Amino acid sequence: MQKQELKPEYFLERPGVDQKNVLSPSSQTCQISSNVAKQGTAYCIGCGAAVFLDRDGTINEDRGYLREPKAMKLLPTVCEALALLNGLNIPLIIVTNQSALGRGLLSEAEFEAVNAALWRALQSCGARYDALYYCPHIPDKAPPCACRKPRPGLLLQAAMDFSLDLSRSYIIGDKQSDLDAGYAAGCRAILVRTGFGETTYQALVQQPRQPNYVAATLLEAAQWVARDILAVR
Ligand SMILES: [Zn+2]
Repeated sequence: MQKQELKPEYFLERPGVDQKNVLSPSSQTCQISSNVAKQGTAYCIGCGAAVFLDRDGTINEDRGYLREPKAMKLLPTVCEALALLNGLNIPLIIVTNQSALGRGLLSEAEFEAVNAALWRALQSCGARYDALYYCPHIPDKAPPCACRKPRPGLLLQAAMDFSLDLSRSYIIGDKQSDLDAGYAAGCRAILVRTGFGETTYQALVQQPRQPNYVAATLLEAAQWVARDILAVR
């Protein structure tokens, strides 16, 4: 798989195996944190579908910059939703903007501790994700990075890493920037009305493009994805 061209610009981190290539957030590199549970997972070979998930407001309560592991609170139905998607044997990849890192408001260690808390919370209810990609950059800084949603850089990097077919993949998020990143990558997009989602929903009338589905909860979103993916297989 050819992924070396973009590799130097990105950051791969796997908390579970303590493997890091840390690049300074100030260097305008895009960063990837991969909490990998690929061992024993039989991906749908040749299928290429994945589900991208926003983190804050979609999986966990959005409380601004999360610095404390104990502030990591899963939203209702998240365990059931992720377990359902896990059962499809396709990668679940979290894609999250974390400009607090670039601003120096959040340290790498704090960020990883919160991710570890998320990982444990999901593990304790029988769910998991396969990787977490994040953008640490500050918005409106020139030149703009390629990875801050609504730009699709995180999704494109994951597509290379996991050999994905983005046209068969999905993004679920609570903000317009999640939907737009999905559109830009050629994915199907689902708005979930948790977190900031109700506000995003109200503003959809101003948008030139509408999401493929609007869900009240992450479980509803996952059920729609499951139906859609099984229909197209
Ligand atoms: Zn970025």
